[in-house]
Amino acid sequence: MSEQECIFCRVAAGEIKAEIVYEDERAVAFRDINPQAPVHVLVIPREHIASLSDASPERDALFGHLLRVAAQVAAVEGISESGFRTVVNNGAGAGQSVFHLHLHVIGGRRLSWPPG
Ligand code: AMP
Repeated sequence: MSEQECIFCRVAAGEIKAEIVYEDERAVAFRDINPQAPVHVLVIPREHIASLSDASPERDALFGHLLRVAAQVAAVEGISESGFRTVVNNGAGAGQSVFHLHLHVIGGRRLSWPPG
């Protein structure tokens, strides 16, 4: 898929409307359109990276940044204390449906384990 067709590239570019809760030069965080919990935010890199499998040493700093943004979003959303889950679905078999890397930040209710 080209970056022009990627929905999360388009969200990051402001071409598709989303409820953005945080953004900086490397990352954007916005509310999931189909929330699975009272808080459900997606954290994405602005750069088009299809999935976690595209990790590389050059991307270590960016991937670390995305995790820090996830923790910061959780704090701002008030779910740090109660607990939250950060999920990265990698590949269709694991439930990835949008092939632009995204971290789900989910919380605000009791989360069971193991996930389905
Ligand atoms: P995944 O199944 O892990 O690839 O997650 C993709 C997520 O993106 C799903 O939870 C969708 O509800 C969400 N999603 C898809 N399109 C949008 C959109 N335009 N704005 C916000 N969230 C979206």
